[in-house]
Amino acid sequence: MIREELLFVATCDISGHVRGKGFPARELSARLKRGVGWTGSNLMMSPEGPIWDTPFGTAGDLMIVPDPKAEIRVDFADGSAVEHFFLGDICSTDGAPWECCPRHFLRRAAAELEEAAGLKLIAAFEQEFCYSGIDERPGDAYALSAFRRQGTFGETFVAALRAAGVSPDTFLVEYGPRQFEITVAPAPALVAADHAVITREMARATAFRLGQRVTFSPKPDPEAVGNGVHIHMSLINADGAPVTFMEGGPLGLSLPAQHFFAGVLTHLPAITALTAPSPVSYLRLVPDRWAPTRIDIVERDRGAALRVCPVFAAQTPAEKPREFNVEFRVCDAAASPYLALGAILFAGADGLRRNLPLPQNEESPAFLPRSLEEALLRLEQSPEAKTWFGATHLEAYLRFKRVEAERVAALSPAELSAHYAEIY
Ligand code: GLU
Ligand code: MG
Repeated sequence: MIREELLFVATCDISGHVRGKGFPARELSARLKRGVGWTGSNLMMSPEGPIWDTPFGTAGDLMIVPDPKAEIRVDFADGSAVEHFFLGDICSTDGAPWECCPRHFLRRAAAELEEAAGLKLIAAFEQEFCYSGIDERPGDAYALSAFRRQGTFGETFVAALRAAGVSPDTFLVEYGPRQFEITVAPAPALVAADHAVITREMARATAFRLGQRVTFSPKPDPEAVGNGVHIHMSLINADGAPVTFMEGGPLGLSLPAQHFFAGVLTHLPAITALTAPSPVSYLRLVPDRWAPTRIDIVERDRGAALRVCPVFAAQTPAEKPREFNVEFRVCDAAASPYLALGAILFAGADGLRRNLPLPQNEESPAFLPRSLEEALLRLEQSPEAKTWFGATHLEAYLRFKRVEAERVAALSPAELSAHYAEIY
């Protein structure tokens, strides 16, 4: 049968979905400038698809412009269509970044960190998901037998990631039923967020070719552990030298790292609305599930919001500062990585600007928001968040998420889990 290669230009929007438009690959050079047509209200497409409410109406034209540095072309070599897509920026028709573009939000946040302290953030995403192509057996947690029984999914997924320019670090069987985890190499903030999007899509693309599916939903089963997205973070200075670690510092943190993470903790109630952005996210953030419930930073504790990670078997004195990182655990895959990481960066930069101190030996740290509605209220009440977003973007975000929360408010935990397991 005759075929012609297609490609797709996409953004990862408020819903966390990767959406955009396709065209013949041979038109790329023209499309690198004029992108694909988009409109303000497209940002308001719900996780389910329909636009429930929008401040933008039916008017106005935008474009998603492919970023030549974010091209993915993976041929699975099984006769299926080549996975060819670009991640891009939502721009106005004159090419200027649109104020509500998720990728631009992260770019602005990274610029704010540089301006506040001359620092850059390096991040690596660790993502959990469930794969349908393995039967559920007792005893499967971390088991070699489960690792074997996922068949060729893992090998194909890892090869696809590598072909997409993402370096896989580990692929493992996780604790929950049919649950797996993928970690990839660290990269500067925007690239790391692109890689998080690409990783999810390559998992979906691999499962699709095997006649299976994956779900990254934060809580596919209300009784089991959830699917977290853990963001490992460290800071580097203008020369690229690591500056997160300080021997003898509190929790091993340097002064700038203390301020950065104090900023993240201070703003955590508000930014949870972006990092755990779905009604189902709050079924994950419960005690005894290896997920955070409080606003805390703790050394080597997988129940903390910020976990100061160990460095394993450092061989040289230079290795420890390079490997040392802090893991943000209040995130899941209902979040657009651009918005989640952007919010963390803005919060950290504010901590640096205000020289915020880390909390001192708190007996009982405050709880994280326990529902999306609570987190949205905290976001709305944050004067800083208004400046990070801008009025239009913040209003759009709050409206989007409030309608989403309302529409599923009557669902039981089991129904909520089942609903979002289909969506993510
Ligand atoms: N599944 C847990 C979560 O929801 C995390 C388990 C782990 O520490 O990897 O975040
Ligand atoms: Mg894990």
